[in-house]
Amino acid sequence: PERGELILEAKDVTRQFGGLVANKEMNLQVHAGEILALIGPNGAGKSTMFNQLSAVDTPTSGEVLFRGASLKGKSSRDVANLGMSRTFQHVKLLPTMTVLENVAIGAHLRGSKGVISSALHLERLEETSLLQEAERQLKRVGLGDYLYEEAGSLALGQQRILEIARALCADPCLLLLDEPAAGLRHKEKQALAELLSKLRSEGMAILLVEHDMDFVMGLVDRIVVMEFGEKIAEGLPEEIQTNPAVLEAYLGG
Ligand code: ADP
Ligand code: MG
Repeated sequence: PERGELILEAKDVTRQFGGLVANKEMNLQVHAGEILALIGPNGAGKSTMFNQLSAVDTPTSGEVLFRGASLKGKSSRDVANLGMSRTFQHVKLLPTMTVLENVAIGAHLRGSKGVISSALHLERLEETSLLQEAERQLKRVGLGDYLYEEAGSLALGQQRILEIARALCADPCLLLLDEPAAGLRHKEKQALAELLSKLRSEGMAILLVEHDMDFVMGLVDRIVVMEFGEKIAEGLPEEIQTNPAVLEAYLGG
């Protein structure tokens, strides 16, 4: 896609769980070469929205368009094949396998969740180009010196970047990241921000859910703020930082 091209669009997305409205008439857009952050207090509906955007879940009403096509009826594997890639908060690395193998397994499993089961197929992976692709992406994210280290020996920040390398396999045009900075030290956040900036400069569209305000403010192009399932503000980081409704949502809670 061309820089600035509309990649992902939510149109009036509503998701109800019984009587609870977790997302209410949400609209947002992500363009190529842009980083958008989705923020809001706990329970605001961010993860639910993330799931609607990545075809993990289906809106009760409204729709999500990825590169102009509705996600309706598509699986997360389908959208992965179309160029959307996400990290999962609860996918664990296989700590005693190498960094390279961990990424190769992820490449093998794009769009699915069963990492452990596919570890059993690693031998077959070696016959394919997956290891080459994994190596290429690990070099791209700056982990080229760690290919044969055990994944569990990496610092948390490096493990997080390993997960991004995994998501980058097969060259997506949109990356969805769920709280990428959570638990990282200051230096690690800086390294992560540098990597995401680099990917943006290559034309990647990135949407992240994030709690860490300092990380978000210094990095992203635009912010969408949610509270009680609804969008309460949208704008540049400097606008959001001084928006009274946002301050109220975070401090007044
Ligand atoms: P956030 O990620 O912003 O913390 P969530 O999207 O996880 O918020 O949750 C928003 C609301 O929807 C919460 O009240 C949560 O309990 C509810 N919720 C989320 N997923 C489900 C589900 N599968 N079934 C019922 N309620 C859910
Ligand atoms: Mg959440």
